[in-house]
Amino acid sequence: MARRRQTRMVTLLVTLCLLVTLVVERLATRAALGEGAARAEVTLRQTVNALEGHIRRFEALPELLARDDEVRDFFARPQAAPALMSMNQWLKATNDLAGSSDLYLIAPDGVTLAASNYDRPDTFVGESFTYRPYFTDALAGGTGRFFALGTTSGVRGYYFGSPVRGDSGQVIGVVALKIGVDDLEAAWRSAEYQILVSDPEGIVFMATEPGWRYRGLLPLTAERVARTEASRRYAERPLEPLDLQRAEAAGLALMTLASDAGAREYLAVEKAMPGAGWTVHVLLDTAPLRAQARLTVAATVLLLGVALSLAWALWQRRARLAERIAVQAAAQADLERQVVERTADLTRANDELHRMQADLVQAGKLAALGRMSAALSHEINQPLAAARNYADSAALLIERGEGARAQENIGQILSLIDRMAAIARHLRNVARKPNEPLKVFPLAVAVEDALQLAETRLKASGHPVRVDLAADLPLVRGGPVRLQQVIVNLLSNAADAMEGRAGEIEVAARAEGGEVLMTVRDHGPGVAAAIADRIFDPFFTTKTVGSGLGLGLSISYNIMKDFGGDLRVANHLDGGAVFTVVLQAAGRAEGELAAE
Ligand code: ADP
Repeated sequence: MARRRQTRMVTLLVTLCLLVTLVVERLATRAALGEGAARAEVTLRQTVNALEGHIRRFEALPELLARDDEVRDFFARPQAAPALMSMNQWLKATNDLAGSSDLYLIAPDGVTLAASNYDRPDTFVGESFTYRPYFTDALAGGTGRFFALGTTSGVRGYYFGSPVRGDSGQVIGVVALKIGVDDLEAAWRSAEYQILVSDPEGIVFMATEPGWRYRGLLPLTAERVARTEASRRYAERPLEPLDLQRAEAAGLALMTLASDAGAREYLAVEKAMPGAGWTVHVLLDTAPLRAQARLTVAATVLLLGVALSLAWALWQRRARLAERIAVQAAAQADLERQVVERTADLTRANDELHRMQADLVQAGKLAALGRMSAALSHEINQPLAAARNYADSAALLIERGEGARAQENIGQILSLIDRMAAIARHLRNVARKPNEPLKVFPLAVAVEDALQLAETRLKASGHPVRVDLAADLPLVRGGPVRLQQVIVNLLSNAADAMEGRAGEIEVAARAEGGEVLMTVRDHGPGVAAAIADRIFDPFFTTKTVGSGLGLGLSISYNIMKDFGGDLRVANHLDGGAVFTVVLQAAGRAEGELAAE
């Protein structure tokens, strides 16, 4: 599809270029020919001016001579030989002075009486010129002018004839003057132009190309030939038509003329000289003009080619750029699509994770619930079953009248009920946040109170407690009652862990960077790594059913968090567990306030 469009565009461009070239060729040819024509016109004007100037220089002379007394006398009466000779000599001298070709006097019968060329073999003296219009015109009283080839001399020239009048005004003779044109014609020769002068019959009599002389520019009709022959203008010269083809280009006349050097095309301009009856033609060879036009066309084609190549290169570059952008855009789109896909994958995975987490939480909750119900059912069922037994026995004993023993049984039942009430209280403590306000107080007091509370339990276990509190401990922030509960818990767990073993329970405390760290260390088996992060979970216990609810550490942990502190577990390098109670130390100002 693109290739077809490209081919169509190339065809269009080539056609356009051809058209442009054609138009440029037309315009360039027209311009070159027009410019040539302008130059030819200049040459034409110069040529005509030169010719007219040449003729004007001589035209007054025969008239002046015709009025000369000596000339009139000469014609008035027949002359003797000496007078003839002196006239001849006078004519010769005057002719030489004027620079004309020949000067001569013709009798009314047409016979030449005296001439400047009297002393030459081809002298006009004795010749008859009755056939020449310049003579007949002058004889008729007018001024005669004629261009012709000399019948006697064979030399081309322009002839003037002036009538000589007698006293009564009648024409008694003619003064004739001939001027040559050879020098003029020779001066025209140039490499650039050909110059022709044709007579009223269209016959060329002056030409820079000698072969064109005495040839017809116009068709040589019978009348033309007859008129020419009557005046014997070209003497015995045979007349032939010029080998000529006329054409026209851009409103300009073109002539193709054959010469010895072959046929050539010329640009022709012409101007009529009415006085002389001549037409002057200037011919300019069109070959250099056409060459110039061709050069212009060639330059244009070259320029067009360069411009087209440039445009083509630019177009190609743009196309390549567009292609690259398209490829980049595709890559970008692909990348974006991949990102979207990955994001979707991640979102799916994340959702999955969330679901799994929720499932796990749910499972954890169920496990805790399971542990709690197991503990609770035991804690409650066992005393309930025992109470039922005591009640059954009490009933029997009352039936038998053993009141004192029945009393005992009822006492047992009461203590079981108390125990269940204690468990219920314990549970309530877990569920409900106590509204004990936070205070600032010395840690030592809490430790002392806790030791007192746990005294019975510790005595029973047989493990002594060593307390080592740093002397300058800052006050701590928290609830003193709940802190006691935490410490009692830890002491009781330590005692449990050391059951069947000897050793002390060590309680110590030190200040460290705005905190007070209290440790409770025992010499038991320590906390296994596998359960270390679960011992703070509610209802987690490793103890046999009935001996632990698994709530002690969970409650203690939450209490410490309430104080803005912490509860951590680790094992001592020398064995045994170390529980660390982290408390916030009170500021100095707070401490002073508390001391008040
Ligand atoms: P209970 O004492 O009712 O089991 P706790 O929350 O106080 O509940 O303790 C949870 C579990 O932590 C105990 O069952 C025990 O396995 C472990 N534990 C607590 N204190 C210690 C200790 N000092 N040494 C070793 N294990 C301990």
